[in-house]
Amino acid sequence: MKVRSRFAPSPTGFMHIGNLRTALYAYLIAKHENGKFLLRIEDTDKERFVEGSLEVILNTLKETGLFYDEGPDIGGEYGPYIQSERKTIYMEYAKKLIEKNEAYYCFCSKERLDMLKSNSEAVKRPYKYDKKCLYLTKEEIEENLKNNVPFVIRQNNPINGTTVFDDIIYGKISVDNSELDDMILIKSDGYPTYNFANVVDDHLMEITHVVRGQEYLSSAPKYNRLYEAFGWEIPIYIHCPLIMKDAQNKLSKRFGDASYEDFKNKGYLKETILNYIALLGWSPGTNEEIFSLDDLIKIFDYRNINKAPAIFDEKKIKWLNGEYLKKLSLEEFNDLAMPFYKKTLKKEYDFLKLSSLLQLRCELFSDMQEQIDFLDELPDYESDLYIHKKMKTTKENSLSSLEAILDSLRSLNCWTEDTIHEGLNALIQRLNVKNSIILWPLRCALSGKQFTPGGAVDIAVLLGKDESIKRIEKGIDKLR
Ligand code: GLU
Repeated sequence: MKVRSRFAPSPTGFMHIGNLRTALYAYLIAKHENGKFLLRIEDTDKERFVEGSLEVILNTLKETGLFYDEGPDIGGEYGPYIQSERKTIYMEYAKKLIEKNEAYYCFCSKERLDMLKSNSEAVKRPYKYDKKCLYLTKEEIEENLKNNVPFVIRQNNPINGTTVFDDIIYGKISVDNSELDDMILIKSDGYPTYNFANVVDDHLMEITHVVRGQEYLSSAPKYNRLYEAFGWEIPIYIHCPLIMKDAQNKLSKRFGDASYEDFKNKGYLKETILNYIALLGWSPGTNEEIFSLDDLIKIFDYRNINKAPAIFDEKKIKWLNGEYLKKLSLEEFNDLAMPFYKKTLKKEYDFLKLSSLLQLRCELFSDMQEQIDFLDELPDYESDLYIHKKMKTTKENSLSSLEAILDSLRSLNCWTEDTIHEGLNALIQRLNVKNSIILWPLRCALSGKQFTPGGAVDIAVLLGKDESIKRIEKGIDKLR
């Protein structure tokens, strides 16, 4: 079998993490078997359409390296790949179903349908259309069509018996036909519903593996009935588990943790995002967790996808991002960090030096802010900061250290890591004290913080002589 899978997003304006995972799994299934992966845009629901969505979809797939073999912008043998450009095809197939009595015209007004809905609500039953229009005579139908009475086309589902379908993840599922609503296939605007278009297109585009979110599982029996009505082969279904923030809550747009863009804006690398979402519901069966896209293509087996909802673990994705950041060259790290530096720091620094201090201890760019904000402006700190048991520093000895440091550093003509080191070492020797007696108070005075990227000398280099001297003087004032 030649494997063909597809990613079929609706243009809703942003790339949900769950959608990107669907795209990734579909891509991996195809590429693992040397098959084809294609992109189809499902835009028949005009109300959900958001301007600019197509660009978001195309850019995200390109950026993450999920290259498709066929799609709206590159064409292919099975096009067009945008559903609104295939409108006539769906109508043609809906009419075929009408001929087979597997579908029918429905002319019911909105008022009548609303009434049916409120009736079912009143008796607490799920709403189902009552098939009234199935019993219209040929003449009545023709009359209505001639008079341009608005219509939809509905699927004609049996009311007895059961429909069974297979899902790779969820197994065999059997549903009583009496539960199947006669869903709308063609809407009154002439466009197909997603429910109809996905079946027609998956067949015409010869899709072998349908990967999609678990929310479509309950509709799958109705899709199977459509395949059967046409006499078409049913594809392999892979419904992926939900992705949750925690046991109760979904990821949400509002909290900035739902879309690919949200994670990019926080500074996650695209490699991290892709690697992490691969693990949302799938595992390779080993303890390994770091995979490139090529690794995934080799080892991905969709049969190992889990049914249980996947919990999105921010701690873990942060850790993973830290691992990816460590692998970058210093220059790459610096280039990627720069927009985040510029957000926090208005003054100029030796950013490459700053990056060398941060690269091994940074998990996420957007968390760096509090590690570096002291550079532009010394924070207001308490003099207690100088008291450190392990460093053996007190306010008293810190004061004398800072006074000695001030003299020694002031006299330096050249301000480099080496000269500062030499100056401080000479001081340590002369006073015959432990390193920490000098270095801890200096770090406190320069940063106003207990934790800093790099040590006192690194910070002094970054700040430059004038600013360092000013801060040491401030420390002295504070301790006097
Ligand atoms: N257009 C659907 C969505 O964006 C895709 C469902 C499918 O892949 O069949 O949710």
